[in-house]
Amino acid sequence: RSAAARGAFDGHGVLADGTEVPLLANVGTPDDARTAAGAGAQGVGLLRTEFCFLGRDQEPSVEEQVEQYTAIFEAFPARKVVVRTLDAGADKPLPFLTDTEEPNPALGVRGYRTDRSVPGVLARQLEAIARAEEATAAQVWVMAPMISAPSEARDFAAMVAAAGLRVPGVMVETPSAAVTADQILQHVDFVSLGTNDLTQYTMAADRMLGSLAELNNPWQPAVLRMVRLTVEGARRAEASGKGPRNVGVCGEAAADPALAVVLVGLGVHTLSMSPRALASVAAVLRSVDLPTAQALAELAVEQHSAEEASAAVRAQLPVLA
Ligand code: PEP
Ligand code: MG
Repeated sequence: RSAAARGAFDGHGVLADGTEVPLLANVGTPDDARTAAGAGAQGVGLLRTEFCFLGRDQEPSVEEQVEQYTAIFEAFPARKVVVRTLDAGADKPLPFLTDTEEPNPALGVRGYRTDRSVPGVLARQLEAIARAEEATAAQVWVMAPMISAPSEARDFAAMVAAAGLRVPGVMVETPSAAVTADQILQHVDFVSLGTNDLTQYTMAADRMLGSLAELNNPWQPAVLRMVRLTVEGARRAEASGKGPRNVGVCGEAAADPALAVVLVGLGVHTLSMSPRALASVAAVLRSVDLPTAQALAELAVEQHSAEEASAAVRAQLPVLA
């Protein structure tokens, strides 16, 4: 492994030919945010707001939320912070939002869908995020989890605008969102691929089941093809006259250095990951130029299993040998 892979991240994600790939951090609390800033993260690509309030049986007050979000934004002055609205349900139950008696929680009322079953919580959260943004210098982007239809992106964008926030986006975690990304991006400015859930729903393999790990693997060519469809959708939205449409990845896939190369080769613009993965991802990205990353992405999507895709790409990355 190169010196950079063993050392610290220098705060600049870039390919060998100078193509910028901003490397952001996934965080859940003010402590996490300070750790991420110390590790050199160029911003926050995923703030899992539910982590601030796990185990609570009451909705946090707007004041309490403003305090938490402000502390997080203050760790990244003038940097991008992508705030995800509460993602409750399935693997992350929040008693004030979710019904734990559903027969199929992963396919149930979770993520953005809870705005219908418990109206008001999302609007109050957006108000708190807007107040925290006003109090700090962070560039706040805000996105909804578990989106399945372009109409949901449209409704969310309207709520974001009503709260006075400027940059709406949604997560691509379902195959339906990936295949309608062009329509979704008529309504919102960016998407972030949540490859943990996107893998679970594309492969129809529960992310909580270790026995399905081979299927539940973001190297699966079907998952990579979903990423490609999303990027193509973003390009179509841009071609139709919309402004730049950022496509990020904030699932665990972004923390696997070889897979990070493939994601960039597929056309992903930014990667967000656990702060401890930043240095090793940055080192491998620096070893390839964009045409090489694109060729490796093509190689990966043509394979017939996750294992073959991963092995084929790794064999072509001398820095990982
Ligand atoms: C994902 O699904 O990839 C994601 C980033 O969200 P979470 O892991 O919190 O569901
Ligand atoms: Mg998810």
